Amino acid sequence: MEDYESPQETGKTYSILTDDLIVFYGVEYDDCGENPSEDWDGFGKFHSFGRDHINYYRGDPADLLFFYKCRHCDYENPPSDVEDRYVFEKFGHKVYQCPYCGLWTVLVRVGRDAVPLGYFEHGMCDWHVSGEVPYGTEGDYRWDGVSFAGVWEATEDIIKEADDAGLERGSAERYAWMEERARQSCETYTYWCNGEIYYYFVRAYKPRPINFDFNAETGEMEYDHDEDNIYDELHDYRYEDEVYVDACGCYYGWDKYLEQEIESSVRYALKKSGANNETEEGQNA
Ligand SMILES: [Zn+2]
Repeated sequence: MEDYESPQETGKTYSILTDDLIVFYGVEYDDCGENPSEDWDGFGKFHSFGRDHINYYRGDPADLLFFYKCRHCDYENPPSDVEDRYVFEKFGHKVYQCPYCGLWTVLVRVGRDAVPLGYFEHGMCDWHVSGEVPYGTEGDYRWDGVSFAGVWEATEDIIKEADDAGLERGSAERYAWMEERARQSCETYTYWCNGEIYYYFVRAYKPRPINFDFNAETGEMEYDHDEDNIYDELHDYRYEDEVYVDACGCYYGWDKYLEQEIESSVRYALKKSGANNETEEGQNA
């Protein structure tokens, strides 16, 4: 497709004119606005310690990262539940009274399926696995970055996935697996926090000529099919029937995938060239 230009920015409509078709396309911000941390399966939950963040977590960060397990009843105690009144020293160990079964025990500290996160904000924000300073922010990080600013927590579906994969709870292997999940979710969550969510549209019409000429020989109206004689703004076609229409949204982040989707939709629209002018649904509809 020689004339095809891949969209580079929002707020701009691109067009391609063929003999019997004009195709408009572009990318705009999408306000579908689903918070993936709240609405998506397999994504995990984000807890931020920043008061002004939407997923602000009021509790004790330690409760998110580990728990104490009773040796007798397997009861899981959040660290904040293990209060001083349950503790005394015996033979150099801290001994706790389990708030569930009441027995005295040395509680076992167990890591949760959770990953500490860092945060950087300098105009745009960036969530990342703690310690993985985003590329290019090294210089500013000590001013605008927080190395422990929140926690990514695996949800039940992710925990089940890890169990099914045979990853032993508390193992280094499982932690690395969780860390990778957190890393992927951080990327998408960052797009969401920055409002980098897009939709694309593709609309094709029969070209509208600006000037007609009357052909005395044939008795018909004719027009010069020249770029200069064809309306070339999308709003010029607002009362026209579409030959092809396609729109798809909720793309988190502007990437190659989004660009490929638009291009394939435009290619599909161009195949309507030479076809009749009945409206057809896009291939994604
Ligand atoms: Zn117990």
